[in-house]
Amino acid sequence: MKVFKFGGASVKDAEGVKNVAAILHTYTQHPLIIVVSAMGKTTNALEKILSLYYANQNYLAEIDKLKKYHYDIMRELFLELHPVWKDIDDVFATLINELKKKRADDQQYDQVVSLGEVISTIIVHRYLLNQQLIAEWLDARNFIVTDSTYREGKIDWEATEEKMQQIPTILQRKKIILTQGFIGRSREGLTTTLGRDGSDFTAAIFASCLHAQSVTIWKDVPGVMNVDPKRVPDAAIVFDELPFKEAAEMTYYGASVIHPKTIKPLANKGIPLYVKNFDDPSLPGTKIHECKIDHLPPLIVFKDNQCLVSCKVTDYTFVSEDQMRSIFSTLSELNLRINVMQNSAISFSFCIDFRQDKIAALIKRLHEHFEVYYNTGLTLITVKNYDAKTFEKYHHMKGALMEQVSRSTLQVLVKL
Ligand code: ASP
Repeated sequence: MKVFKFGGASVKDAEGVKNVAAILHTYTQHPLIIVVSAMGKTTNALEKILSLYYANQNYLAEIDKLKKYHYDIMRELFLELHPVWKDIDDVFATLINELKKKRADDQQYDQVVSLGEVISTIIVHRYLLNQQLIAEWLDARNFIVTDSTYREGKIDWEATEEKMQQIPTILQRKKIILTQGFIGRSREGLTTTLGRDGSDFTAAIFASCLHAQSVTIWKDVPGVMNVDPKRVPDAAIVFDELPFKEAAEMTYYGASVIHPKTIKPLANKGIPLYVKNFDDPSLPGTKIHECKIDHLPPLIVFKDNQCLVSCKVTDYTFVSEDQMRSIFSTLSELNLRINVMQNSAISFSFCIDFRQDKIAALIKRLHEHFEVYYNTGLTLITVKNYDAKTFEKYHHMKGALMEQVSRSTLQVLVKL
């Protein structure tokens, strides 16, 4: 069995959905599990609906916009009397209902934002059936068990693996299973999400629990590249293959081509991961697996929306290990991860992803012990395996606020 993952960009319009069906037609000899994300920018739109609702602004107009976006796609795929219209109306009714429930913010976020994947999989499933692709629609929440960390559900692997035992029997009946990325269910019975862009991880969870032959992530790029071609078009090359370790490090530094949690479950089971282009499936793409490559070219990763926080001691003592421990435990309690850090005699600075909802709480807590300064709107550039040319280009950049060089990696935090 193979696992395929189609992201939001691959199903952003009716042409995209048709293309998914066309790709699947060429793989009919294998049992397939297809993981699909919300269409286009639906998840962002659902986040916006939530914030408008909280701000007492016109969220209904935004819901209508999102409905129209999906209706436009459906109009190109289905006749007027097709049952899909009622299915989708029902999901939008659930959305309005969920908004009105009194819940903690993160819990409500998951009940609302998860519906993007429910909508997209209903549409794609109905379309596949119309195309004689006999697929079963599965609710991923019945299989992926998480704890109650809403917005960042942690997988209960044992419980998930147990639930997935039913899947091989379903695959004997239907050759294709279609399910949602990004979502699971907590033990208390509520929907959870696995973190933004988490659908790749969903594909890896299914593959790992079911010992799949491989996972393929279908993307709008020809494979994994050494740099985002939109940023540095003249330096971009596609890797034919990459070791798991290298791919994992790339995602750690912020390469958005694969979600950071995807590699580990696959590497642990030795399941290869292919990144292929959905516009031209004949391209070879990149194979990520256990292999050794002697000379990798410089790999450049841009991570935007970074925030640099500096904690300065106030009483002319030096920064102590105890003070650092208190900073680390505050970060850990707020579920914030340091991307790069540096200390001097009287201050400790670190760079984190900027999260509007967390930054105020962080500053307040740190302020109890330190003078705190922060800058937002920064980009963290990481050059792994740098050579003379890339070192020259990114070292001492104008607007740099922090720079670190190790034997193989250069990192620069910069206001671009
Ligand atoms: N739809 C979710 C997001 O946009 C998950 C995903 O696309 O992987 O974050």
